[in-house]
Amino acid sequence: MKYESSRGKYHSVTAAEAIKMGISPDGGLFVPESIPHLDDKQLTAMASGSYQEKTFHIIRQFLSDFSDDEIKSCIDGAYNQDRFDNERIAPLVKLDTGVYIQELWHGPTAAFKDMALQMLPQLLTSSARKTGEKAEIVILVATSGDTGKAALEGFKDVAGTKIIVFYPDEGVSEIQKRQMLTQEGNNVYVVAVRGNFDDAQNGVKRIFSNEEFAARLLQNGQKLSSANSINWGRLLPQIVYYVAAYLELKATGILGEAESINIVVPTGNFGNILAAYYASRMGIPVKRLICASNANNILTDFIQTGIYDRQRKFEKTISPSMDILISSNLERLLFEVTAHDARRVVAWMEDLKNRGRYEIDTATRNAVQDIFWADFCTDEETIATIRDIWRERGYLLDTHTAVAVNVYQKYRSETGDKTISIIASTASPFKFASNVAQAVLETEEMRGKDEFELMKLLSQHTDVTIPAGLQELDRREIRHRSVCSQQGMEEMLMSFLQLG
Ligand SMILES: *Cc1c(COP(=O)(O)O)cnc(C)c1O
Repeated sequence: MKYESSRGKYHSVTAAEAIKMGISPDGGLFVPESIPHLDDKQLTAMASGSYQEKTFHIIRQFLSDFSDDEIKSCIDGAYNQDRFDNERIAPLVKLDTGVYIQELWHGPTAAFKDMALQMLPQLLTSSARKTGEKAEIVILVATSGDTGKAALEGFKDVAGTKIIVFYPDEGVSEIQKRQMLTQEGNNVYVVAVRGNFDDAQNGVKRIFSNEEFAARLLQNGQKLSSANSINWGRLLPQIVYYVAAYLELKATGILGEAESINIVVPTGNFGNILAAYYASRMGIPVKRLICASNANNILTDFIQTGIYDRQRKFEKTISPSMDILISSNLERLLFEVTAHDARRVVAWMEDLKNRGRYEIDTATRNAVQDIFWADFCTDEETIATIRDIWRERGYLLDTHTAVAVNVYQKYRSETGDKTISIIASTASPFKFASNVAQAVLETEEMRGKDEFELMKLLSQHTDVTIPAGLQELDRREIRHRSVCSQQGMEEMLMSFLQLG
């Protein structure tokens, strides 16, 4: 299985090369040349296996240049009982008749990013070994909060790697920030960038495309790579849980033979929902992929109208991991729905760069709308949804998952569709404790309490346990204090890497 660039100006590469490089040198994203199909026989064979076994069967189809032993050791390193607090890894919980929440946050950082970022370091170091790479790999990450911490946990003390995380100093929650600032490990660096997520991401993209910088690094025996969701090694492990959820519903008889499902995903960079799209292309019967946004509803507009227009105000919301105006992974979807027509993709991406917008043709828009449905949810609706679901169902949602639940409710009432639905739950409610507390506690009880005290109060009030990775966060030592502007990111990096 080879991978090609969505911009069509680079040769095909192996999975190991695609994962090692992260992004294609022509600015495109690596996409598998074809999508393996899981037939009924394979699905049946997989159904009784553990999560790890399902992962093995799915990812090996995309990693034909890896040996089975290499793949198994990647999986063992990622999804084990030291790192995940639930042996089912991604358990399904019934929320209502025909509505299931898939909890994707049982890893070390309490957000779904762990599902991919516990695996990526294994895939990446394995890829480096396979391609005869001698250089040390320097992971560069721009984060809207959850990726940074999950990448730090994934890469900490991994031999042959260093990791540098840039986060927007005004774009992450107190808890997310504290999780990163207290990060341990001898190969980790954390820097606050003045600005929002797009500023941090654009700075990282600029460094990646700076050839002079790459040459200097190479002289120093180092090479940049990415842990952002543009790396195929990030996306691949995410396909697994959608297939696993489908198989579980089928195995328990909830889902009949050949019955389809809907998948609802709270979306930012379009990575998680794209993984659901790949699961459907692999043969999981999906009726609708429901794309849920917060007030940064650029994807809602895109899916409804075919126009992607980033010339709009950036909104800071209570679901900060979805506060994104450039959804990088959308480029992969465009490449897929145009049957790998790089010329059209390049034209749209040029329009986006030069004019801040692009409009897809009618045929492409129809292809997108054939499977995707989209809407968005305001902060007020998010809070109301957390409150209602807690009162009516006794289930505590985080702010991102609440966006998905709210948009799913809108979908139900607009379409009347009662297809069994899986809602991706992307974070533990304690990761965004103050906003969740605002929804379920009395104002009086909350007065004067900081985010960490609210976390404990919320736990006492709801009798839900705080995940281990979030306990005692306020008492851990602060180990990172660097701050810079978007323009100063190169310099910061050079000083960490002891370059000139
Ligand atoms: C990253 C993140 C999202 C958005 O996922 P994408 O893959 O960027 O679309 C949603 N919720 C949480 C909690 C996240 O950390």
